[in-house]
Amino acid sequence: MTNILTRTTELVKLFWNEYIDNGSVAVDMTVGNGCDTVYLSEHCGKVYGFDIQEEAISKTKEKLSKDNVKLICDSHENVKKYVKEEVDLLVFNLGYLPHGNENITTHKESTLKAIRESLDILKVNGLLSIVIYWGHEEGKKEREGIKEFVNELNSHYYHVAYMSFPNQDKCPPEIILITKRKKEEENEEK
Ligand code: SAM
Repeated sequence: MTNILTRTTELVKLFWNEYIDNGSVAVDMTVGNGCDTVYLSEHCGKVYGFDIQEEAISKTKEKLSKDNVKLICDSHENVKKYVKEEVDLLVFNLGYLPHGNENITTHKESTLKAIRESLDILKVNGLLSIVIYWGHEEGKKEREGIKEFVNELNSHYYHVAYMSFPNQDKCPPEIILITKRKKEEENEEK
């Protein structure tokens, strides 16, 4: 039996599962080794996957057993260039590939741009999920930037959860979940 609280990547899927079914559209914003992309492919109707590493894209392609995934070798900050529909779930698993090149990591500025773009295409009552790994220098900056950004998100339109594991050492991963309550253009008179 998996002790779910000790496995962040599994824990976060419990939340994803509340927001997807076999008709859902999902986006994996950081494909990497493809574990999350494969999971989403098996649980959703259609999946987009982004990574800047060609190797991540080609290796993931080999792991997929269904043909419902569009893999894109480009930065996730360009998500709206490729995804022209509203989506139920977007997932970020930040940092660098475990056992990969530690210099190829996600960065604060592009991640924040990607989060902003993601919120534009997120369906009302959909979920944006972020797992932050902040044990490295860039990760610390990225974490601060994301926390600042979500703290400022208008609670009229967005509901944010932030999960940390305070008694674990070595900068344990953190989870941020954002759901959209209503569309910003549905704004009543300000
Ligand atoms: N979820 C993945 C899995 O299941 O194996 C692990 C993702 S890994 C922690 C982070 C990935 O983000 C790396 O593969 C890296 O190449 C990718 N990445 C870094 N910057 C990116 C960007 N701007 N756009 C898209 N992917 C990026």
